[in-house]
Amino acid sequence: MKRRNLLKALASLPLLGAWRAAAAAPPKDAKGVEELQRNWKTLLAANATVPLPTEPLKLADEEWRKRLDSAQFYVLRKEGTERGGTSPLNDEKRPGVFVCAGCGLPLFTSEMKYESFTGWPSFFTTIPGVFARKKDFMLILPRTEYHCVRCGGHHGHVFDDGPPPTRQRWCNNGVALRFIPKTGAA
Ligand SMILES: [Zn+2]
Repeated sequence: MKRRNLLKALASLPLLGAWRAAAAAPPKDAKGVEELQRNWKTLLAANATVPLPTEPLKLADEEWRKRLDSAQFYVLRKEGTERGGTSPLNDEKRPGVFVCAGCGLPLFTSEMKYESFTGWPSFFTTIPGVFARKKDFMLILPRTEYHCVRCGGHHGHVFDDGPPPTRQRWCNNGVALRFIPKTGAA
């Protein structure tokens, strides 16, 4: 079954339909997306201190090994991919900000997240200027891989089958993210 048909089938179930309606929907137009990007700090906890994209963090592999657990190191520093459906952040729906697990740079807000049913946390846009992209050919067909602009950590791949208006699906490894709820410490 195609993903779109599956979504339609799921939405037609009364209970799941109600759940989907409760989840935040993407803005209707590009202007709405720009507003989310411009106002991302309104989702940041008052007591959170976060770095700027313009403060690079470069560390040797052995330093990263000390800071990160093995799953984080494999994804962020070795361009690995976590097993789908394993991240608790798939179900994270509270208001807040998702930051890089390597360097703390804010990358996405809860308002940019949507349920893609892929098993990985998915976003239809990002906080501006926080990722660098490059094509990879690991699955023969080119995919666009993206890295944190501050620490160079690998986060995931961006596809063009996301919801309107952006049609983007930023498919992010959950272990590469840390969630800061707007209400403060998790
Ligand atoms: Zn980073």
